[in-house]
Amino acid sequence: MSVEYQFGSRPAAASPVTLQPKCDREACWIESVEHGWLFLLPGSKGTGWLLSVGDSVESLLATSRLIKEQLSNVDPPRGIFPSHPRVSLPLSAPGWVACGTAAMGFDPLCGDGTGNAVREAILASAMIRAICTGGDPPSLIAYYQARLLAGFQKHIALCLDFYESGSAGPWWHRQLDDLKHGLEWCSEQLPVEAASRYRLNGFQLEPAELKLQLCRESHRTLQGCRCSSGLFLPHRKLLNVFREYPLTAVKLSIFARGIARAKGVAIS
Ligand SMILES: Cc1cc2nc3c(=O)[nH]c(=O)nc-3n(C[C@H](O)[C@H](O)[C@H](O)COP(=O)(O)OP(=O)(O)OC[C@H]3O[C@@H](n4cnc5c(N)ncnc54)[C@H](O)[C@@H]3O)c2cc1C
Repeated sequence: MSVEYQFGSRPAAASPVTLQPKCDREACWIESVEHGWLFLLPGSKGTGWLLSVGDSVESLLATSRLIKEQLSNVDPPRGIFPSHPRVSLPLSAPGWVACGTAAMGFDPLCGDGTGNAVREAILASAMIRAICTGGDPPSLIAYYQARLLAGFQKHIALCLDFYESGSAGPWWHRQLDDLKHGLEWCSEQLPVEAASRYRLNGFQLEPAELKLQLCRESHRTLQGCRCSSGLFLPHRKLLNVFREYPLTAVKLSIFARGIARAKGVAIS
């Protein structure tokens, strides 16, 4: 069965609110405060919803300078839920597959989630179809998990940007530490080779021909290569790819070979 891995601890609450007449109904409001952040979503007829993250709504509003001014009344929260990034592993095994909310949870600060859920559903059905038509279940499942983990890693990196720009102080530093830990954890879990084995073509998964090319981003030029799936392969992962795809290694450009040699990676 799956275990849920969590990166942070940020309780969130959603409270119905009544707006001040002067509040601009066309705007969403977001404010960072010392122990968290507030998000005001105006609705119809002078009402709206207030999302409070990190601490109780009363405590966050006590230090608010922007959003407090927009509200004339705040009702008790209708629900409290975790808002930090979380992911379940494994994400699939023979007989079952997790996607959407069952697979991972996103920080609402980033506006991620729905798109991921749709992409995961498309990928999950393509994986099931590929297995039903004779594909290799372990490598298809590994591919599915690697793709979802890559999406999760992207979300954590986005969160990191937001929380870095949010504010200063112990609460914000704790969130940043948890997110950095999440990024490291993702890198350790991400099996790059598995993520490169297939390619989604429309709604079909096809085995991918692995073409490695020199990564032209200047700061990464000497650290690895990019493969046709768009994934960046550091040298320690390249070594495994070469072992698994000996014919592909032959197709490597002379530049990539040179760099690999300079880094002490043997290509046979
Ligand atoms: C406060 C908040 C803000 C968010 N903001 C954004 C945003 O701005 N942009 C974004 O892209 N994403 C956002 N998300 C994330 C997004 O809502 C989710 O990632 C997305 O809805 C997941 O889709 P899903 O279909 O997997 O699950 P859900 O949307 O949760 O749908 C699951 C459905 O299954 C039903 N269900 C559950 N169990 C059963 C059962 N046993 N039998 C029958 N039905 C069942 C549930 O009632 C529900 O209707 C936000 C999430 C939250 C909590």
